[in-house]
Amino acid sequence: MHLSAWLVFTDLDGTLLDHHSYSWDKATPAIELLRQRSIPWMFNTSKTFSELQMISLEMENPWPMIVENGGGIAVPDNDQCAKVFSGIPNYPADMIQVRDGFRFYSLGYERERFLPLLAELKRDFRFLSYSEMTANKLVTLTGLSIDKAKQSLDREYTEPCLWLDSDSAFMAFDERLGQLGLQCVRGGRFAHIMGKVDKGTALKWVVSQIFSGSQAQTIALGDGENDLSMLNAADIAVVVRSPRHEPPGPCTAPRCIVSKDIGPAGWAGAIIALLNG
Ligand SMILES: [Mg+2]
Repeated sequence: MHLSAWLVFTDLDGTLLDHHSYSWDKATPAIELLRQRSIPWMFNTSKTFSELQMISLEMENPWPMIVENGGGIAVPDNDQCAKVFSGIPNYPADMIQVRDGFRFYSLGYERERFLPLLAELKRDFRFLSYSEMTANKLVTLTGLSIDKAKQSLDREYTEPCLWLDSDSAFMAFDERLGQLGLQCVRGGRFAHIMGKVDKGTALKWVVSQIFSGSQAQTIALGDGENDLSMLNAADIAVVVRSPRHEPPGPCTAPRCIVSKDIGPAGWAGAIIALLNG
């Protein structure tokens, strides 16, 4: 039984990390407050584990991380996590991996299992997927540094692709994926092929499996369309204002708040207000 009154789930880019600078400085007072009160605060992001490893070290975040849009959960082997979580009896062995000081739980479909299925779709649709790209190609397409491109290519649960075919072909493509137990979610630059899970599914999984028996209230914070499933799965949804776009909606959580400030400053303001009642 976990005794914290709150569980916090947060998106990173544009939410806890500034949209332009990727800095979280303005969120520091709220992170301190979470630490003082031993409240778990967990990343729920489209980023890969490779991309998150350094961020979690720099932020000194000891809690589980939801990676690749809900594709999987990385639970670190540390004292904080051991106090609340001792593993999941009977979880299918082929859906758990232990490495790098983490236990990885797959929620949907591992990339290496579904990649061979895409080869067949290649014959009927035009798309360029990550598995066909070198790090240099990704640098050219995105402007990422070579190191960041490598971290982005190091994936476990999702396969981004550059859609090169028509919109109507995309519908047919998504339908074919559906028959394979997969889906394709269109994002900014890439479309993401993945199992039928999302950030909201993953939030619920963490609450029920890792914090089972906890009576904690969940707070979710996010700024984008791909955060809606997470925001709507929480008790309290904090839509963090973006400098780029209108708040996503509709928000159907029992309580919805739109942050006063943008990005990490808005994040901190909302957390501090909620925790101080
Ligand atoms: Mg975001």
